[in-house]
Amino acid sequence: MRLTRALENLIEQLQKLPTIGPKTAQRLALHLLKVPEAQAQALAEAIIEARTSVRPCSQCGYLTEADPCVICRDSTRDKSLLCIAEEASDVMAIERSGYRGQYYVINKAFSLMGGNRLEDIDLAPLLDKLSGGEIRELILALNPDIDGEVLARYIAGLAAAYPVRITRLAHGLPVGGDIEYTDEITLRKAIEGRKEI
Ligand SMILES: [Zn+2]
Repeated sequence: MRLTRALENLIEQLQKLPTIGPKTAQRLALHLLKVPEAQAQALAEAIIEARTSVRPCSQCGYLTEADPCVICRDSTRDKSLLCIAEEASDVMAIERSGYRGQYYVINKAFSLMGGNRLEDIDLAPLLDKLSGGEIRELILALNPDIDGEVLARYIAGLAAAYPVRITRLAHGLPVGGDIEYTDEITLRKAIEGRKEI
């Protein structure tokens, strides 16, 4: 079946999104052609606006429009706790657990199998923060899988040069699971039961 070029292009673009297969892409594309034009326009504009205005926070790496971000600006948060997360989506999950410290977001999914190298992760800003002396505990909130384990060991090794307690989230997180998709109660318990490494 031949599709018009514009429709084919829309399906192709949608299919590049995670979890969207060819059938879903086609269904979404046809749906977008049926909705009121203003709604389709609003979606296109929302994508462009988010792409141009949302940036990683210069202090913690969390996604923000204002720099520093709302978490870094919040003076009621505990400045002595620093939680290391791989992605902004992990921060969103950890925030729901009630954690009230600071963050350092790596913003890069680390995968040994995917060819990533530990040396390519820029941890200089983190070490800078640690040398500031305000942080007393570093909480490694990395995914409970092999990559998370390797990354945790690497960061713990670098941080060992500073006078900070280094902890990891307690087990109870599903092994091979993903912090982003962990429910807030499990995550809160994992933070409360964090263990020194
Ligand atoms: Zn920030």
